[in-house]
Amino acid sequence: MYEPYPVPDLARDHKKFRYSSLWTFAKQDLRLLAFLLVIGCFIGVGIGYFWICISLAFAIFFIFQLRSLYLVNEWISNRPYDVPPNLSGIWGALLFNVYRAQRQERVVQAEMVGLIDRAQSSLVALAEAVILTDELHQIEWWNPAAERLLGIQMSDRGRNILTIIRQPSFIEYFNNIDQSPDGIKIKSTVYDEHYVQIKLTRFGSESRLLVAYDVTRVHNLEQMRKDFVDNISHELRTPLTVLSGYIETFTDQEDLNPRWKRAFDQMHSQTRRMNALVNDLLLLSRLEGNKQIAKNQIIEMPSLMNQLFDDAQAYNVDYGHTLNLDIDSHCDLIGSDTELASAFSNLITNAIKYTPKGGSVTMGWHDDGQHGYFTVQDTGIGIDPKHLPRLTERFYRVDSARSRQTGGTGLGLAIVKHVLMQHNAYLEIDSIENQGSTFRVVFPKERLYKPE
Ligand code: ADP
Repeated sequence: MYEPYPVPDLARDHKKFRYSSLWTFAKQDLRLLAFLLVIGCFIGVGIGYFWICISLAFAIFFIFQLRSLYLVNEWISNRPYDVPPNLSGIWGALLFNVYRAQRQERVVQAEMVGLIDRAQSSLVALAEAVILTDELHQIEWWNPAAERLLGIQMSDRGRNILTIIRQPSFIEYFNNIDQSPDGIKIKSTVYDEHYVQIKLTRFGSESRLLVAYDVTRVHNLEQMRKDFVDNISHELRTPLTVLSGYIETFTDQEDLNPRWKRAFDQMHSQTRRMNALVNDLLLLSRLEGNKQIAKNQIIEMPSLMNQLFDDAQAYNVDYGHTLNLDIDSHCDLIGSDTELASAFSNLITNAIKYTPKGGSVTMGWHDDGQHGYFTVQDTGIGIDPKHLPRLTERFYRVDSARSRQTGGTGLGLAIVKHVLMQHNAYLEIDSIENQGSTFRVVFPKERLYKPE
């Protein structure tokens, strides 16, 4: 517990030393010297040893000064925090000034320590775990919540934090803080089935501040949501397949009453839509679940682009757009070919769907040495900028009626976002309403592969 130093009463000390100028104090010494010399003079003239008495007066003055010096030294060396000895003259002034400066410094120090003490007490009271590490990643300080949540013990002081929290995802995050601005979620090392969200902040040269909190409840709710969507999609699949089969059979019958034909056609298109929805939901849930799958296949971009182009041409039959392919990079991509192909194809079908008949759609693959760019540019309806921030949310549509009409599920861009996140890539969208849009996927250098 911090014991503050006694606060000095400078006003009282000032009264004691009313004279502050050095000359005032020097005058006391000079008065003493003059007094001794006058006495020496009288005695010397009286007894006939004038110079000897004058020398004696100087010697006595010198002894006085030596005594003061001794007391000053004794105070500084042995009890510097006590009140200084009460000396007159220059030495007294010197002592007072040193004492005053020292006390002022102690007041500032006491305030600082008080402040640190308050900051520390509030950190100790926090429900969130807080850990401070130094430049060598050694643990310097932590609060009680860090003991509860992350199992830090007294013996861990000075130990490298990476030898205590050893999950690979944490080590990866610790070394590349900037890649996960929101921090990461890890499994608790203390309690089974508990999850902790960790956020690191760099400060000083290489020191780090770790803040962690329990997110088990949110994690469980999120897991429940995923399981529910996953289960319901699976459950819907079988009845949908049966329904589509029968509807298709009936629709194909030549002697079908025209009144029924229209109804069956509608049922057919709606079951197709539901099938697409279920497939997209299952794909999304698979994407969320398969973070562990290695995304390190080498994808030959010219062949992937050509395959996407062929698929686009087949899809374009009803739209009659001009399709262009623009490849000017020799780089290939490192990732999961099925996932990336699905994301790229979503962007291309969107461009075709949301461009009025007879427009043009250009797919491109470029690189600038630092990044790889997969682009899809269309001359379509464009998007009002106010929608852009929410465009990759599940079921977010600019115009729901149009999206349904084109057979959209509202999940395409959510799938794209997920796939890109898992490849450390991101999506940029430039769009002008009624003029067209450019969707640009930006891959980091580490995802590019230059064939020999
Ligand atoms: P959907 O299945 O409805 O197409 P997406 O997630 O693929 O769902 O897209 C979300 C919304 O973004 C769409 O409903 C559409 O309004 C808009 N959008 C996507 N791509 C384009 C595009 N190329 N041009 C204009 N709007 C687009």
